[in-house]
Amino acid sequence: MSRHGMVTKIHTRIRTEPFKSSYDLVGKELGRGKFAVVKMCIEKATGKQYAAKFLRKRRKGTDCRMDILNEIAVLESAKANPYVVALHEVYETNTEIILVLECAAGGEIFDQCVDENNDAFTEKDVIRLAKQILNGVAFLHRNNVVHLDLKPQNILLTSARPLGDIRIVDFGLSRRMDNITEVREILGTPEYVAPEILDYDPISTATDMWSIGVLIYVMLTSESPFQGDNKQMTFLNISQVNVDYSQDTFEGISPLAVDFIKSLLLKNPRKRATAEECLKHPWLNPHSHSHSHLVNRSASSLDEPEETSQSESEPESPAP
Ligand code: ADP
Ligand code: MG
Repeated sequence: MSRHGMVTKIHTRIRTEPFKSSYDLVGKELGRGKFAVVKMCIEKATGKQYAAKFLRKRRKGTDCRMDILNEIAVLESAKANPYVVALHEVYETNTEIILVLECAAGGEIFDQCVDENNDAFTEKDVIRLAKQILNGVAFLHRNNVVHLDLKPQNILLTSARPLGDIRIVDFGLSRRMDNITEVREILGTPEYVAPEILDYDPISTATDMWSIGVLIYVMLTSESPFQGDNKQMTFLNISQVNVDYSQDTFEGISPLAVDFIKSLLLKNPRKRATAEECLKHPWLNPHSHSHSHLVNRSASSLDEPEETSQSESEPESPAP
């Protein structure tokens, strides 16, 4: 894979003393991905809890140290944003680099998304969490960083019950947008991948916005909009933007939410809403004055489900 868009200049000191001299691992594995294991640990000096992400430097026979430095550099560049996981320290051994991260103890939003039962999010929850995700992603995009792997496994919660705040993690695929036009291999679970990735077209901040559209869809409906019976079917669904917006799937969800998702799941990346535009969308601003004519309608479906006497007419689509 090409290394375009990678940043490898970092400011964090890489410690070479043993990780275990400063931290105790406390049994619990917090999660794992393709190349990383994440474990809970306690800093001996402070008694504070952290998440240690153990990354192998060699993967499939190739040196991936540069990729890890890129991940660290991106975390550094986003440290001013509360919704991007904070990086505390970095350790290096012969075989591994260990990122000591703020611990997001509530786990992946994935767990609430797949749940068909009581743990699922309400629309009100999703509105609050979506604002936080967009705040974090808008910050990254303002700094010319694209995440490129936004999915429910990489969006964590500070606490699950009561529902806390979000933390964006896993900057392993992130890139600086300066001028990346590289052809990328298609990695990980395909369901969140934008059409331009499948077509080997240039990626941009709009690539993340597609993934956010998929993410919000899943958070609201517990259904993955493009998932097919196999990878080929999933890719076909994505490239045809074959999405189910039926009343059945969106039962009890406001039309503004559907409108919001539709502004993101657009094949042409240039037509997709930006993170800043999303933050201004009436779905996320139910009390904004300029959309007061829409507010009454959405408020009735959110706050007072008893009196949802909606008119037959199509909801007006809000100005972009
Ligand atoms: P990978 O690049 O291998 O996917 P991630 O950074 O996504 O690695 O971490 C893998 C999993 O570990 C995450 O999906 C999550 O469940 C868990 N995890 C990662 N970072 C943290 C953290 N800071 N706090 C709690 N759990 C975490
Ligand atoms: Mg991950």
